[in-house]
Amino acid sequence: MSKRRYVAVYTDSDLLVGCDHKHNTILSAVACITAPGGYVVAVRRGKYLSLTDAEDAEFQQLRYGHAELTKRHNPDFNVLVRVPVKPL
Ligand SMILES: [Zn+2]
Repeated sequence: MSKRRYVAVYTDSDLLVGCDHKHNTILSAVACITAPGGYVVAVRRGKYLSLTDAEDAEFQQLRYGHAELTKRHNPDFNVLVRVPVKPL
């Protein structure tokens, strides 16, 4: 089983743009966020994955100073979009 890594992402013109790194920690990926609304996703075997609840809580704490989950309480649906990533 490969280890989960993390990527800082943001959207631009309906594209999901990720940094070129594979961060070992959420903290490192958060520090790499350069755009408003930036987020962190997990990466495993070349595929973007949603953060787990624990990972999202860590992201919220690091990014916003509180551990409240965002839009994850009783979701109506979940969507994971796979799109080509353009170079920075
Ligand atoms: Zn990065």
